[in-house]
Amino acid sequence: MFSKNIFSRYFTSIRQIATFSILAGILAALLIGGMTSLTLHSKRETGYDTLTDDVRNYLNAFFDELESTATSIQPLTLSDCHQVSSELTSRAAFNANIRAFVLVRNDEAYCSSATGSMLMGMDQLVPDININENIDLTIMQGTPMVPGKPTIAAWFKNPVMEGRGVFATLNVNLTPYLLFTTRQNDRVSMAIIAGDKALTTISNNVMNVSELPSHPTRVISIPGYPIKIELYGETWPVEDIQISILTGLVFGILCGALCAYFLTVRLRSGKEILTGIKRGQFYVVYQPVVNAKELKMSGVEVLMRWNHPIAGPIPPDAFIAFAEAQQLIVPLTRHLFELIARDAKKLQHVLPPGARLGVNLAPSHLHSPTFKEDIQAFAASLSPHHFQLIFEITERDMIKENEASCLFSWMHEQGYEIAVDDFGTGHSALIYLERFKLDYLKIDRGFVNSIGFETVTSPVLDAVLTLARKLSMTTVAEGVETREQAKWLIDQGVNYLQGYYFARPLTLVQLQEWENQQKDYDEWVIRR
Ligand code: C2E
Ligand code: CA
Ligand code: CA
Repeated sequence: MFSKNIFSRYFTSIRQIATFSILAGILAALLIGGMTSLTLHSKRETGYDTLTDDVRNYLNAFFDELESTATSIQPLTLSDCHQVSSELTSRAAFNANIRAFVLVRNDEAYCSSATGSMLMGMDQLVPDININENIDLTIMQGTPMVPGKPTIAAWFKNPVMEGRGVFATLNVNLTPYLLFTTRQNDRVSMAIIAGDKALTTISNNVMNVSELPSHPTRVISIPGYPIKIELYGETWPVEDIQISILTGLVFGILCGALCAYFLTVRLRSGKEILTGIKRGQFYVVYQPVVNAKELKMSGVEVLMRWNHPIAGPIPPDAFIAFAEAQQLIVPLTRHLFELIARDAKKLQHVLPPGARLGVNLAPSHLHSPTFKEDIQAFAASLSPHHFQLIFEITERDMIKENEASCLFSWMHEQGYEIAVDDFGTGHSALIYLERFKLDYLKIDRGFVNSIGFETVTSPVLDAVLTLARKLSMTTVAEGVETREQAKWLIDQGVNYLQGYYFARPLTLVQLQEWENQQKDYDEWVIRR
């Protein structure tokens, strides 16, 4: 009931909490999953950038060194092979990256560091090399000495003498790539491309460019050399997507569960009420009760209000029942007492000495161990003897007969009066009227409502009034909304009247204004 009222504009039911939690979960899953995949993606991109830089730096250094070695060998092309072959061999032997150096004269290879003297046209030895270029590179499936082991062949033209130059075959070494893969433990492949041939980590053989994967992640070119490196690797690989989905799911479920837990706990724990007390969301209003003889205010009934920051005004029917269910009625009633005590000084100026101050008590408070203490403390917080305190209780409170009997006696001893609230709505009410000594009977507004414009219809109301007379109880009619109702009730001998016809529940300031207007206001003269 409470949740329906308080959260009617907020979280009305468990179903809504569930829907909200699921939505929050999905949102969190999307957010965290998305963030994870973006993070993984950017980490991967950074990895590729690092690899690209590593490869570029390595190859730049490699080719620079190769070129300077080739330059230093160029003068050997002036000599015959037998004069320079040992030097050539030692140059090749001391360079780990070189398989062989070959000297070229008149466009013919005539001296090799591996095989000594030879004679073979360059167009025959390496048809893919263009010896008219200063530097040219190609990829070969093998060399005569090391067949079947792919190599990169490099041509360095002698800048001074036409038709001469140095030709080198290289040991292919993908050092930076290997460094990267061991570091990243990743599946990335790489191709070194010269012309239409490629050396790759995909295959042991030389591949045609057309066979390579079509979308390289990175392309690295080495300035000055007709060669480029391509890196292949997914930036959104399945593993990353799986990890992202998993992370998203875990966080989504966690967030949804937390949401549901938090909302349910808040709804169920009654924390809202304690927060409301702490933040001053409760306040009191006073509804005048007028006596039937002079139609003058004889007292007020104190009614509590809750202005919830999200749900707006919450009717007391709802929050009182909720506070009872949460065992929070005692702190709430103590708070009510505090609020009244705070108003007491001003209230004294509006209400004359002896005026009745009706305070509603919840059934569960009545039977709580601190009840007497609470009441005494409340009474002590008001100026002594100014107000006549009336505690309004419902028929439900009388079920524990023995306890009720003791309590009522004690209350009378202390000088408090007791009113039976909502009389006629509870069950077996009549029995209790005989057993307990009670001071007022508040006739429920349901009965008062049934009083029509012309005729009086309610036999129950008739019976109630007769009974009250017989038990010599003072009667208060609640919920008087029309002049006719008031007139009828007065004619029937009801002692006090309360209802919108006279005044709605009013704040202290409104009550003051209302009281001032009453001073010379004759409208209530109903009978004559
Ligand atoms: P109640 O004790 O029967 O209080 C009278 C209710 O009738 C009040 O509703 C009042 O605003 C309303 N009322 C007064 N005159 C008329 C009228 O002419 N026509 C109509 N239709 N209604 C009228 P409210 O303030 O909403 O309180 C509802 C119930 O909540 C109260 O019924 C009482 O049982 C409970 N309640 C309110 N304040 C407190 C409190 O401080 N402590 C406890 N324990 N219960 C409270
Ligand atoms: Ca009441
Ligand atoms: Ca009532």
